[in-house]
Amino acid sequence: MIVNSEDHENRSLSDLLSLDLDALEEQLRDWGMSAAEARRLGRGIWRQLYHGAVASVESLTEVPSAVRNRLTQEYELPTPIHVARQGDLRLGAVKDLLRLPDGSQIEVVLLAYRDRHAVCVSTQVGCACGCVFCATGQDGFVRNLSASEIVAQVLHMQRWLVSQGRRVSNVVFMGMGEPLLNADTFKAVQRLVDPKALGIPPRRITLSTVGIVPGIVRLADMCHALPINLALSLHAATDELRDQLVPMNRTYPLAALHDALAYYVDRTQRHVFIEWTLISGVNDSSQQAEALIDWLRGLPAHVNLIPLNSTPSYRGEPTTGQQLAVFTAVLDRHGIAHTVRQRKGTQIAAGCGQLKALRTESTSGGTGPALKPLAQAPRVINRSFKGEGKSDLGALISR
Ligand code: SAH
Ligand code: SF4
Repeated sequence: MIVNSEDHENRSLSDLLSLDLDALEEQLRDWGMSAAEARRLGRGIWRQLYHGAVASVESLTEVPSAVRNRLTQEYELPTPIHVARQGDLRLGAVKDLLRLPDGSQIEVVLLAYRDRHAVCVSTQVGCACGCVFCATGQDGFVRNLSASEIVAQVLHMQRWLVSQGRRVSNVVFMGMGEPLLNADTFKAVQRLVDPKALGIPPRRITLSTVGIVPGIVRLADMCHALPINLALSLHAATDELRDQLVPMNRTYPLAALHDALAYYVDRTQRHVFIEWTLISGVNDSSQQAEALIDWLRGLPAHVNLIPLNSTPSYRGEPTTGQQLAVFTAVLDRHGIAHTVRQRKGTQIAAGCGQLKALRTESTSGGTGPALKPLAQAPRVINRSFKGEGKSDLGALISR
């Protein structure tokens, strides 16, 4: 028997996504269901939450109305408000700006490939790491996202895909923030891989880090339970230059990073992805490429080269085609696998934190492209990136 709560109006609602399945079943038993009923119903609710991706507790179907009423009295889904969209999935990518209940804004990107759909999630509001070329870093740190808020970004895209008979197949932790400085990142990954929840195979999940050594070691130690892919945002292979571009290098310099990756490779027997944002005249020289070869010694790696996306507060320019050829020739000579990411997102400001930066700029009278707020349904704001390469994040989106 389900007993109605009497004092619910005075209580704030709990987050339904924060419950694991055991806790949900326990809750249902507390409300008077038998163990078997609670198990059946708990699984049904989870299926709808994660597979059907319902947008609210009220829209759960196949749940007795007494249970649904009780759930709505006590729980809510942390569904973020969709503020703006750029891009067009038919052309390869969309980026959504989402507003959380505390007013914070975060970005989530959906990338479409022939047979895969990858969601790129944010893990923090802002970021404390301060990489000089990164729009999120230029904003500073506001707060960590909870595991639910991370998972809710995937569900935001899942809802939209499910309505078209498709599903999220891959997740990359490459949006705003540093995933290894947020303990909830691991909880979110667990929910994503749980076969009873989203059921995304761990090998289709990639976490990108600026190089937080204790986090890399933890990931290596968890590799049997959570064998996800690791990408390291390196960008420079001498401490002198990396200290300037990536201030976190002063805490975890290149030698410590190499040791941590060697440990990761040893534990996981997997290769690592190296991210390198190419900035003209800064880190696109043959000397930096040679330094990268030296640093990579003993590490099985795939290098992703990404021409810089210009951001408001950084003067650097993307590398030129000519210099890109010089850099890749060094990698080729040493047999280092690499991909040049022609970012699908360039015209949708898909560099980390850029949609938020543009929106802040346009709402405060800046000169950036005007972004219109969304009324209800997602609206395409900018569809002008036709013809861009299809390789964006390609190497990171495994089958
Ligand atoms: N904090 C993590 C994940 C988020 S940043 C990390 O740094 O890895 C995701 C990737 O976007 C990183 O490789 C980062 O260096 C890159 N990036 C950020 N701003 C960029 C820009 N303006 N142009 C190109 N790449 C950028
Ligand atoms: Fe933070 Fe990553 Fe941006 Fe650096 S690149 S400031 S670590 S989000």
